[in-house]
Amino acid sequence: MNDLLLALGTNRRARSVVGALKLPIPLPEPLARAAGPWEARPLEGESVVVSGGPLLAAITGALAEAGATVLVDDAALLATARAAAEAYARPVRVDADSRGASSANASGLASSANASRVHALVLDATAFETVEQLRAAYVFLSPRVGRLARSGRVVVIARACASTASPATNAVRTALAGMVRAIAKEVGRKGATANTLIVAEGAEARMPPVLRWLLDRRSAFVTAQPLTVTARAAAARSPAVVRPLDGQVALVTGAARGIGKATAQALAAEGARVICVDRAEDSAETSQVAQAIGGSVVLADVTAADTPQRIIDALGPRGVDIVVHNAGITRDKTLGRMSPEAWDAVLGVNLAAVIRITDALLAGALRDGGRVLCLSSVSGIAGNVGQANYSASKAALIGYVDALAAQVAPRGITANAIAPGFIETRMTAAIPLMIREAGRRLAALGQGGQPEDVAQALAFLASPGAQGITGATLRVCGGALIGA
Ligand code: NAD
Repeated sequence: MNDLLLALGTNRRARSVVGALKLPIPLPEPLARAAGPWEARPLEGESVVVSGGPLLAAITGALAEAGATVLVDDAALLATARAAAEAYARPVRVDADSRGASSANASGLASSANASRVHALVLDATAFETVEQLRAAYVFLSPRVGRLARSGRVVVIARACASTASPATNAVRTALAGMVRAIAKEVGRKGATANTLIVAEGAEARMPPVLRWLLDRRSAFVTAQPLTVTARAAAARSPAVVRPLDGQVALVTGAARGIGKATAQALAAEGARVICVDRAEDSAETSQVAQAIGGSVVLADVTAADTPQRIIDALGPRGVDIVVHNAGITRDKTLGRMSPEAWDAVLGVNLAAVIRITDALLAGALRDGGRVLCLSSVSGIAGNVGQANYSASKAALIGYVDALAAQVAPRGITANAIAPGFIETRMTAAIPLMIREAGRRLAALGQGGQPEDVAQALAFLASPGAQGITGATLRVCGGALIGA
């Protein structure tokens, strides 16, 4: 681990010394992450408090299936919640802080002292349309947020903002997203996250696997983000809670190291056969990765004219289900000093090759129900000094997946991008120290992410349970302040 503050943060003694001396050093909280493949009950032993709302039964069912103990905020909700949890033999109780909630309602009091720690708070705000209803968010969350465990979760489930909604309703929906971003900054100190799960009308059945993932330790570095679930892409396979990629074939470019290597490993762990693509000079590393996961290798420069056909030949008649365009480069210089070669190289690898390979695969090799996943970047959202070429290429992918999603939706194919923030890899190790430190600390979680964090998000978007997410760019950035 080369993050000194995070290393200090894992040492309880160091934490208490910094605390006792009142040193102005915010030690980042080490994040609880999951190792190994998806488990049947990732929330076993965890308590989750759920508010009442139209999606109560679906939320409770998803939590109980994941092994959680569900606490409702009102005794009147017990019958509905118990019926939803019954199939999974999970208990449902009334949360001790339901009294705290009513006293907060009456007097603004905060949380009751004797209620226990909880892993997550799930607020169903899908019916909120007025400022009075919005207040229920405060009433539910305020007395409980202090009880959130380290690496806990807050999820607010909402309807999409739309200019076709009434102005007041649209204001309330927009307010929820703003509130969640603020909560993310507050709970980030304890390594906890807060996200909004937006469910389009008619897409309710696609919500549970997404909620499950947001509550799982696999989403540890995703915070302050909206995830939108729609019925846009035609239905494909039904979601599986373990080995969701069994029998699937995946292609990962730039698989020799960093995020690509972690992604190849994560997809293989969930059952996919992975074809690892990287340049000939990285032959040894690529072969090592492929061998360890029972995958195969295509040594190719993604920009070479014959690469799409070589990939199609390697795939054979079975074709491919999941394509991860991960290969990427930087050639940083402020625009006035940037050589044409630096511009062309970055746009060539990061954008032109993605379009060319996808077009070739869409002509036949990419199967119905498939996935196209691109690696964008927070730099493409915020823009970085010295990265006009890189920011252009990474912003381009946001527009690319948006339009591609519409084109491939009838075939049940989804197209999404991940925008990583600061991730600890060879690419970021090359950044000057002070800028590197700023990249790590200027985020709700106060630390850089690991390649596995991005890999887990890609594996989730590749899974059948993410059928409702398409045309989206999901930031995996620890709540980075830039571009937010
Ligand atoms: P990395 O440099 O560690 O690995 C990139 C891999 O891509 C290397 O194995 C390299 O050989 C391969 N590659 C480069 N050009 C290629 C080409 N022409 N043909 C085939 N393979 C090629 O990078 P990383 O940090 O793991 O980043 C992976 C992706 O994530 C990139 O697209 C990057 O832009 C993006 N990203 C990374 C971060 C971060 O903080 N590390 C942040 C945002 C976005």
